[in-house]
Amino acid sequence: MREALIILAVILVLFALSAFRYRKQIKTIYGVWKALKEIRSGGFPNGPNSLGQEAESSKLARCMKCGSWHPESTMIRVGNGPMFCSAACFEKGAKQAA
Ligand SMILES: [Zn+2]
Repeated sequence: MREALIILAVILVLFALSAFRYRKQIKTIYGVWKALKEIRSGGFPNGPNSLGQEAESSKLARCMKCGSWHPESTMIRVGNGPMFCSAACFEKGAKQAA
């Protein structure tokens, strides 16, 4: 029984030493795990490595025709150029340009 306790203590010490040696890697893995947990729960991590996709799709853009502001994702876009809030504005803008 005594030997088993000594072996257990040695294993614990080795584990502690390796944990100390690889603390950076463990920290990284923990960070990734935490981020995954946050994403799974619906939220996005707010750290510097956070995904910018959500902010990108909710960015407001101005309609070239009527001048109203709408989320970029709901607008009609011509390449990298002008954006229109609706098909009607798009047609008016296209007619004007032609
Ligand atoms: Zn418009």
